Amino acid sequence: MKGNFRINIIAVSALFSIILITIVYFTYQRNINILKKEILKEYLSVYIDTRKDHLEDLVNHVYIDIGAKRKNLRIDIEKELDSYINIAENIASSLDESTEIPTIIKSINKGLRGKHIRIFIIDGKSKAFIVKPNFNIDEKTLLSDENPEFVSKYTLYKSKEWIIGAVADYGKFENDLKKYVLNRLYHFRYGLKKEGYFFVIYVQKKNGGIITKRLLNPNKPMNDIDKPVPLGLRGAKGNQFFKGMVEKCFTKGQGFEQYYFRIIGTNKVAKKISFVKYYKPWHWMIGTGFYVTVFENQLKKRDKILNAIMSKRNKWFLLILILSFGLMTSIFIYLISLSIMETNKYIKRIKEDNKFKQKLIYMIPNPMFFSDEKGNILECNEDFKELFEIKDTDECSSSRNEKLKNLENRLKQIFEKSKLSHKEIPESIEIEMEIKGKEKRILEMYISQLQYKEKLSGFVCILIDITEKKENQEKLYRASIKDELTSAFNRRYLKNLFPTEHKKAQDKDYKISLIMFDIDFFKKINDTYGHDVGDKVLTKVVKIAEKHIRKEDFLFRIGGEEFVIMLAGADKNKAYQIAEQIRKDIKDYTFKEGFNVTVSFGVAETKEGDDLESALKKADKALYESKNSGRGRTTLF
Ligand code: GH3
Ligand code: MG
Ligand code: MG
Repeated sequence: MKGNFRINIIAVSALFSIILITIVYFTYQRNINILKKEILKEYLSVYIDTRKDHLEDLVNHVYIDIGAKRKNLRIDIEKELDSYINIAENIASSLDESTEIPTIIKSINKGLRGKHIRIFIIDGKSKAFIVKPNFNIDEKTLLSDENPEFVSKYTLYKSKEWIIGAVADYGKFENDLKKYVLNRLYHFRYGLKKEGYFFVIYVQKKNGGIITKRLLNPNKPMNDIDKPVPLGLRGAKGNQFFKGMVEKCFTKGQGFEQYYFRIIGTNKVAKKISFVKYYKPWHWMIGTGFYVTVFENQLKKRDKILNAIMSKRNKWFLLILILSFGLMTSIFIYLISLSIMETNKYIKRIKEDNKFKQKLIYMIPNPMFFSDEKGNILECNEDFKELFEIKDTDECSSSRNEKLKNLENRLKQIFEKSKLSHKEIPESIEIEMEIKGKEKRILEMYISQLQYKEKLSGFVCILIDITEKKENQEKLYRASIKDELTSAFNRRYLKNLFPTEHKKAQDKDYKISLIMFDIDFFKKINDTYGHDVGDKVLTKVVKIAEKHIRKEDFLFRIGGEEFVIMLAGADKNKAYQIAEQIRKDIKDYTFKEGFNVTVSFGVAETKEGDDLESALKKADKALYESKNSGRGRTTLF
């Protein structure tokens, strides 16, 4: 049971520490992860910004490139036209008259097929074609150079008055340029690697509507080409990104669009950022972009590197953290086991104490009990049960008869009082109680304090019947202050009593008078009737004198046949009266031997400065006076 308990505590502590370490570890990891995310987020945003710049640069570059190429295209065509005119002129001038020049021109044109350039001859006078350029164009327009679809150059061939010229189908040249640009963009696309793409869409406002046509597809360049793109095209999360792009092109000429798109061939949705710019001469929306998600995936790889750096950096920190927690846990477990051991020791001690108590209870032949620190009786022995009439089966702690309640209340009072006055609990107290309805007995209760860890934990009390002892003490005391023969108090007692009585009288302002008396010719009585009769006389005299004094007065035998009465609250006159009464009573008493005795009295009142000596001296003086003036009388000092 004890062992199990300890194992349980250790298991709980271990579990607790594991949980603690886990919490600390994961909190730490969580913070690291937050930090990491912050770093990656920052990295991502920087990356996106640079990518965006890059996109803008790319498109701008394409845009400028197209613009420059288009501008040069006309010049190049014109140069080329010049060279063809020269060729035609040279041929014309080198040949003789009979040569069919138009036939030669026609054969040159044949050779130029696919070049979008044709040589023509117009008659200088009639302004009619001698050789048609085979394009859908008339002579007038050709010479006025009004049609932007065609570029033409011509010169006057004087010998024949011919106008020899060359015309280029500009639209076809531009189409070639467009194809060239698209082709270049198509290849360029791969330069953007996986996360990037390029697209070109024809977008033109026409008749209040918008015509769209796919020219270069980001993913499948050959499919869907020349097909319209629906304006309401939605991304994976619902936004009409295409409409957004088109609006940006029409309003600002360019802009970024962010949207979600399913990665082709997968079910994964990826975030995309595209930049579009409108090339107005061709109604081209040139766009490029990248998959942010693809980059985010790349970031995850970086995350591993980051992890490695972080874990390397924090390995020691974690180690110290775990070690210190381990240490703390060990200390914790150690403290707990210490406290358990302490508790076990205490329990063992209590058990031993209890055994000891039981032994003690049965060993001690007196009533005894244990109480708690407040005085509630907990255990007792058989003698105690008998004394307090507790039935055999009753427990002391549950039985509460009147007697026991009284005892408990008494105890509680004592303990409470000593607690309040900070005084020691008395070692013993006396209790008076009737035992089984018989005579009153005096019990002495010895109280011993029980302590645990320097704190009061209870009391053990033993009751001893001291009635006889008390009586003997009383007897001894009485014997010590009384004369054995007459039972009058002795001189020693007078000595003890006088100072206190005298002081009391002074304090309370009343008189103390002394009556001193001495039996007359007592020696003679002894001599005549024997010592025994003398003793009887002494006893009788005392008895008679005692009849006349009150309880609070004292009669002392101070010598063989000499006595003193101490009267409290009586002045000399009152004392005199009493003395006289005693004297008369003694005088009138006839002993059975047939004789009477007389007694001489001296009365004196004590004064403030008196001590016993001086007070007795005064009474003695008065007595001496009585003896001297014939005996059997009373004299007042
Ligand atoms: P006086 O009238 O002058 O007092 O004469 P007295 O004989 O009484 O005087 P005294 O003091 O000489 O005698 C006292 C006698 O009392 C002496 C002594 O033998 C006797 N006596 C003292 N104590 C006792 C006693 O305890 N018992 C008896 N029987 N006699 C005692
Ligand atoms: Mg005498
Ligand atoms: Mg005498």
